[in-house]
Amino acid sequence: MNLRVEQSGKWSRFYGFLVDPATVKEYCLRCREESRKIGRPSSRAMNCWKIVARFDPDRREDVWKWLENAAETYPWLTGELTDGILILFFQKGRSEMWRFREYMIGEWCKRGLLPYRGSYFIPYRRGGVYYDSEYGPWRTWKVEYYDLTGELKRKAESINAICPYDGAIMEKHGNKLQCPLCSFKIPLNVLYEVLEFGQAEYELKSGPYKNKIYRIKAIDKDRVEALEYSPCSNSS
Ligand SMILES: [Zn+2]
Repeated sequence: MNLRVEQSGKWSRFYGFLVDPATVKEYCLRCREESRKIGRPSSRAMNCWKIVARFDPDRREDVWKWLENAAETYPWLTGELTDGILILFFQKGRSEMWRFREYMIGEWCKRGLLPYRGSYFIPYRRGGVYYDSEYGPWRTWKVEYYDLTGELKRKAESINAICPYDGAIMEKHGNKLQCPLCSFKIPLNVLYEVLEFGQAEYELKSGPYKNKIYRIKAIDKDRVEALEYSPCSNSS
């Protein structure tokens, strides 16, 4: 067994053998305390990333098997599992989460755990879900609480993008960039994430491109590129 498992109600918590469960709990406790005290997501929250994946409850055993396997290569793996939801914790920052997620996408495609209900998207986020109700959507945290000069916000307002479908220059419409020809959209929040980390991935939930996934990348200071991303047919 590569994972230690603790039962907590209907959730199973698991820890890779390099992880001390006490430090994980301590991290979350301190994060909540500190965030409450300073009135914004603490540096711990800013550094904490989660993958929140859904899967068919009938495939729970397959997900366990995959986790056991993954923990051999990634002994710091930590998270929670119930029938249908898997949450993975990454408390050492974005790049660790992103690297693991790339690996996970490939594995879940291979094992037929994707798509789930027609979607190939594996959601990820910063900090705890419950923080959004107190501090707003996670993609806005950097801009709202840690961008004291307003530089990121200004950059996001003036960014340019070209529609991947028809080459039209996308226009600002409230809190998104939108193609004037085909109504393809990039939410402003996603641009914040791109400015902070160089790239972001999101899925459109409605409209003509429903359930399509996009990777947005920074090309230079004031330009981003949007590419449709098909996890189980692309090799990278
Ligand atoms: Zn378009």
